[in-house]
Amino acid sequence: MASLSLKEIQKVYSNGVEAVKNVSLEIEGDEFIIFVGPSGCGKTTLLRMIAGLEEITSGELLIDDKNMNKVDPKDRDIAMVFQNYALYPHMTVYKNITLGLKLRRVPKAEIQQRVTDAANMLKISHLLDRRPKLLSGGERQRVAMARAIVREPKLFLMDEPLSNLDAKLRVQMRSEIARLHRQLKTTFIFVTHDQTEAMTLGTRIVVMRNGEIQQVDTPHQIYHHPANMFVASFIGSPEMNFIETTPVYNDSGVCLAIGGQCFMLEDKWSLPLIEAGYLDRKVMMGIRPSDIQLNQGTAEAKKEHTLQVPVDYVENLGDETNIHFTIAGTRCIGKVTIASSFHIGQVLDVSLDFSKIHLFDMDSEKSLEYLTYPQEAT
Ligand code: ADP
Ligand code: MG
Repeated sequence: MASLSLKEIQKVYSNGVEAVKNVSLEIEGDEFIIFVGPSGCGKTTLLRMIAGLEEITSGELLIDDKNMNKVDPKDRDIAMVFQNYALYPHMTVYKNITLGLKLRRVPKAEIQQRVTDAANMLKISHLLDRRPKLLSGGERQRVAMARAIVREPKLFLMDEPLSNLDAKLRVQMRSEIARLHRQLKTTFIFVTHDQTEAMTLGTRIVVMRNGEIQQVDTPHQIYHHPANMFVASFIGSPEMNFIETTPVYNDSGVCLAIGGQCFMLEDKWSLPLIEAGYLDRKVMMGIRPSDIQLNQGTAEAKKEHTLQVPVDYVENLGDETNIHFTIAGTRCIGKVTIASSFHIGQVLDVSLDFSKIHLFDMDSEKSLEYLTYPQEAT
């Protein structure tokens, strides 16, 4: 187990690309940290700097309170599993797993014990005598994992280790990696561009974009309280809907004008929006597809605060259906679990759950939620 402290870490490659900008982050001993973000946002670079495979241009990396900037990778007590892990084709699985330990002169009995334990954990005991080419993709991935585990590192780094596996194996390996983390009680840092992996594995998620951290928080907070529009749209599937709107004051409070109607906002929003000067000024409203409900055609459902929208497109996923329609000139998606079929052109009655909406500043794209919790403002 290791604690990490990243202080204003920056990486500029020799070609001038600034891959990581001013990243600061504190990681506790038993965490499972996810770096997530689109391709090219600097995840691998950051991980490789932690491993010592890439020089840190500026800033400070502390592991267990010791400065690691200039420490050799082999002296960092870290194991790394890559997306394209290489197994030696001419060696058996056993030899592949133990090679690193032999080079470190670990006693033979101890090596055997560690391999037995790791092989049991990863269910590859029956494969130890085989050559890698006789293994399936999932089995090879497990061998790469075992090779990392037997080193008993205090920090595990994994860079998209599951991306070469098919969808079913990915789900299976995901639950096994979660179990490994519980068993090993070691610090894990796991890089992925897949938001489902991030949400299901992480104790905390670090969302990155263009070399910068956008938000660091638990999966629950990231999903329910995204700090800005980027995080809001990156996490969640289908993506959050964004609708431009304007808060206006009427007799009973602040409401949002959408599609020719006025929707009352919850009290928690009213005063903060007024005080921060957002009345009569455009804001971006975010609402997740699952927070748009379908009123099923009954007469009393056609009350105020519903919108009538013609269906543009239907994605039937079996247990749920994504219905595309247009609200106030914006393409939106509603996710419903109602078992009935929908057709293009059909007019639906939908309600937006205003207790679940997000509001963002149009310029900074930051969430306005901090206005309602001013003590948490940063
Ligand atoms: P990610 O892992 O999030 O996809 P990377 O850390 O691999 O992103 O890359 C971040 C940025 O740095 C990208 O713009 C990439 O092209 C650039 N980059 C990565 N490695 C190098 C390198 N060795 N030399 C120059 N630029 C690099
Ligand atoms: Mg990468």
